[in-house]
Amino acid sequence: MRLALIAHDGKKADLVSFVLQRLEFFKKEELTLFATGTTGSMIMEAGVENIHRVASGPLGGDAEIGALITRGEMDAIIFFRDPLDKHPHDVDISMLLRLCDVHNIPLATNQKSAHILVKYFNSKLS
Ligand code: PGA
Repeated sequence: MRLALIAHDGKKADLVSFVLQRLEFFKKEELTLFATGTTGSMIMEAGVENIHRVASGPLGGDAEIGALITRGEMDAIIFFRDPLDKHPHDVDISMLLRLCDVHNIPLATNQKSAHILVKYFNSKLS
């Protein structure tokens, strides 16, 4: 299962804490993790290794994740967006959300929906 993790600056601490609270799931061998640059670094520093880091979001990382979706190489996205901040790469963010809908990829954009997504996929993995 391939899962991408992305968090805007105002939500990065929340995502790291979300991952740390579910380490057993995020360290499963059947899971292939991807992340945008800075998000990925922070999660790796928190102790989850083997993350495929793409570029930082504002430098095209969201577009890279979008390309993986388009190629059928991504199964789910957890994207902790910060709805109270401005983002220079708004067009890339919209593109990523759109591609999730185009390709019917589960997308969690806040903690509760991510919790449900992880719970579901955890039950599918051994
Ligand atoms: P980052 O990118 O993990 O490199 O900060 C996320 C984003 O802002 O889209």
